[in-house]
Amino acid sequence: MSRNVGNIKILSCGYCTQLERLASKQGRWKWLHFQARCFLVPLQEGYLLFDSGYSADVGRIMQSWPALLYKTLIPVTIPFSQTAVAQLSELGISKDDIKYIFISHFHADHIGGLRDFPKARFICSQEGYQALKKLSKFRQVCKGFVSKFLPDDFEQRVVFVSTSNAQKLNNLTVYPLADLPNLYAVELPGHAKGQLGLWLKNENILLAADAAWRQTNLKFGAEPSSIALLFSEDKICYLQTLSALANWPEVQILFTHEEE
Ligand SMILES: [Zn+2]
Repeated sequence: MSRNVGNIKILSCGYCTQLERLASKQGRWKWLHFQARCFLVPLQEGYLLFDSGYSADVGRIMQSWPALLYKTLIPVTIPFSQTAVAQLSELGISKDDIKYIFISHFHADHIGGLRDFPKARFICSQEGYQALKKLSKFRQVCKGFVSKFLPDDFEQRVVFVSTSNAQKLNNLTVYPLADLPNLYAVELPGHAKGQLGLWLKNENILLAADAAWRQTNLKFGAEPSSIALLFSEDKICYLQTLSALANWPEVQILFTHEEE
């Protein structure tokens, strides 16, 4: 269930089923499995996990309204063995070894496992979090956010990305992360408010979350279908982000939902 790219370990934590034609204008009208993946980044001490996937508890957490709406529209089945915490344990990594979880954005498939890591600090966009927090529970679910996935002490453990040292790189805005040398948060607007990727400068790998479904979206004419783009936060920004990523050829980009 896991493989390495450089020093990064990719964990596939379940999948959703989607029409390939929605994910790419050049795709077939065929159902495909799109993986929900997390990325494990070794630090000098411990590890950083990029997104958390789901926990095995998602069914129970989403059994009441309005989270039930999400569960009905996007059914999720994930056995414990496929969760990030179980796969890490298999690798000899305890949940307490995860010092940070970098939250790319707050869609349920990216934060569903946060409660499995009681010692981790959370790195995310303040703009993305605050925009969701002020919404009603129903509107949150409409935005793909189930607040019960956040640990009760989330606000004590969160470290918002500081935007004071912004730099421009290939038409993208990047921010160095405090205390984590050579790691940079990268703004990837369009898919969800405040979506951030993580650029590992030394490895020249960009973890780009849901900025695209797959590598082929970066080719001209192969972007996601218009229907799929209706569900993005801002279609124009989404396409601008895709274009900026396509023009950063020397970086290796990993998206969350690519097929293995
Ligand atoms: Zn998403």
